[in-house]
Amino acid sequence: MSASSAWLDLAAESIAVKVRWMGVVLGVALVELRAAQGASGGNVAALRLLLALGALYALVDTSFSLRGRVLLQRSPLVISVLESVFIGLLCHFDFGSGITSPFRYYYVLSLVSCAIRHDRRTTYATWLLHCLSYSTVPFTEPLGWAAFGWEYAITMVLLFWVTWASTALAELLKRARRDLQILNARLQSSHDLLEQRIAARTRELEEMQATLLHQEKMAAFGLLAAGIAHEVGNPLASISSLVQLLQRREQDSYTRDKLQLIEQQLRRIQTILRELVDFSRPSTRQIERVQLNRVLDEALSIARYYKGGKQRNLVVELEPDLPTFTANRDQLVQLFLNLVLNAIDATERGGTVRVRAFRTEDAVEICVEDDGPGVPQELAAKVFEPFFTTKRTGTGLGLFVCRKIVEQLDGTLRLHRSELGGAAFCVQLPVAREQRAVRQADTRVGAIAGADS
Ligand code: ADP
Repeated sequence: MSASSAWLDLAAESIAVKVRWMGVVLGVALVELRAAQGASGGNVAALRLLLALGALYALVDTSFSLRGRVLLQRSPLVISVLESVFIGLLCHFDFGSGITSPFRYYYVLSLVSCAIRHDRRTTYATWLLHCLSYSTVPFTEPLGWAAFGWEYAITMVLLFWVTWASTALAELLKRARRDLQILNARLQSSHDLLEQRIAARTRELEEMQATLLHQEKMAAFGLLAAGIAHEVGNPLASISSLVQLLQRREQDSYTRDKLQLIEQQLRRIQTILRELVDFSRPSTRQIERVQLNRVLDEALSIARYYKGGKQRNLVVELEPDLPTFTANRDQLVQLFLNLVLNAIDATERGGTVRVRAFRTEDAVEICVEDDGPGVPQELAAKVFEPFFTTKRTGTGLGLFVCRKIVEQLDGTLRLHRSELGGAAFCVQLPVAREQRAVRQADTRVGAIAGADS
């Protein structure tokens, strides 16, 4: 039950209890006043006893009400019968006034309480019981049938009118409570929805901020690489032209061999510089068909220049002709580079880093494994959270960004235990539907060809 409807229930309950107490207090005052005035024809002791019972009943009723319950809630007619008898007796013992006794107004109070607490049918049944009770009062008097007159008729009309009015008002109150409950439920659900949206937006913002930070870091790294490439590139070009000049001259075989060697090494340095410049160019948002083998080659060749990259045993097992993907090339390079650099960081000098890429039924799997210490079980989920790092100079954004990139391609990035002993970060990229169709067709053709031969 909602707070607002509970409040309405409590308010209605408290009215019902107050109506009872008002009846008891007025009854006691009436009896005592008339006894003091020396009224005759009644049974004061019986009236006092009945009112004491009435007070006790009101007390029990109040204690139930305070605990949010209603006395005999499931059998309200028991209460109605008791009240009918109780009021009938009060009228009977009331100083001989019988049908004109002021206690007949108790029927009204009882009907009002009943309407507040119970449904329409119970209230009308109570009204019938009260009519019966009131109609028996004249027979307990010497007047008998002669007592039925205007007073009786007016009281009966009053009882019916009160029954109708109080049930109508109570119905109105109950309907208002129901409407309030519905409105409250709607309000609650919109509130929940709003909270969910705020939480989702906050998460998105945090993730975006983390991605931006990582991109800034990569951009700074690229700028540095471009600067170095530029500084080294110019003197290198001069050396290269000098070597070419020397090669055009007459030389003995020893000098020719050495010059050729120098030229080869210079070409190697130029290739490295070109790769560095390629990597450092501002990343684009361009989506294109990307050859997975080439992306992996590029990431691996950059990783080789990373500190310690040369001192690791880099094992590369790539299936030839891995499929192409529609993706952002720079992001894919960044993804695999991050994984390989992490593996290099995790291994000792002379350690092994293995990169495997192979096709499965409807995906391509690329696993970067190492023989480092691995990721402890309790950190397995945390390593993908932004800003989680165990490195002194780490940012904790690498794996987070990797996962984002993979998710954009509907793929998964999972952490396993490698058979090499360390961690295995495996990327699974689903092969596009059209490629799967081509592959199935190829398989079918292969099968037919096999059957023919
Ligand atoms: P960073 O490299 O800046 O720390 P990452 O998100 O790339 O950020 O990595 C988060 C953490 O995950 C690392 O600090 C490290 O503790 C753990 N981790 C990542 N790769 C490996 C790995 N191959 N072996 C062991 N731990 C790893």
